[in-house]
Amino acid sequence: MDRRDEIRPGEVVVTAPEPHDAGLVFIGRIHTPWQSRSECPRQGRQDGPVCRIEILEPWVAALKGIENFAQLEVLYWLDKSRRDLVEQNPKHSGRTTGTFALRSPMRPNPIGTSLVKLERVEGNSLFVRGLDCLDGTPLVDLKPDHCDFSPNGRTGDFQKA
Ligand code: SAM
Repeated sequence: MDRRDEIRPGEVVVTAPEPHDAGLVFIGRIHTPWQSRSECPRQGRQDGPVCRIEILEPWVAALKGIENFAQLEVLYWLDKSRRDLVEQNPKHSGRTTGTFALRSPMRPNPIGTSLVKLERVEGNSLFVRGLDCLDGTPLVDLKPDHCDFSPNGRTGDFQKA
């Protein structure tokens, strides 16, 4: 057991239902310099190291146009996390906080999100900065940053009105 999975003073664990109904399809893998959770940054930074997001077939065609965006929202599955904590004691602070008031990887559905800077696209690989996950973390989804996208969307709505 990773030491981060141990229960800390004050933390509350529940008997979580068996996960069975989401039916996610992992669309790729994230390659980072970090092999253990102790090495990983707690939050990615856009001046952090370049990481490679590998998109698997049949999803590579879905990258068309992604090179037009400077920033992407990346959703990933923090697959090594325990999923039964409802109150957590971050950094052994002695104070517990509810899971939904934290960005901890330990949550019922361990989805991580980061806003990353897109450096370049090469075939089925995106090179980005701003991630904070372990090497090999499964990829759930990619979306263009809504700050890049929303001005056009808003203009469209106003034109229709
Ligand atoms: N930026 C994301 C967010 O806010 O949703 C994730 C933040 S979470 C605090 C980042 C931490 O999750 C890392 O420091 C590492 O300890 C842990 N982590 C990274 N990859 C993981 C994985 N594949 N499984 C479990 N834990 C992971």
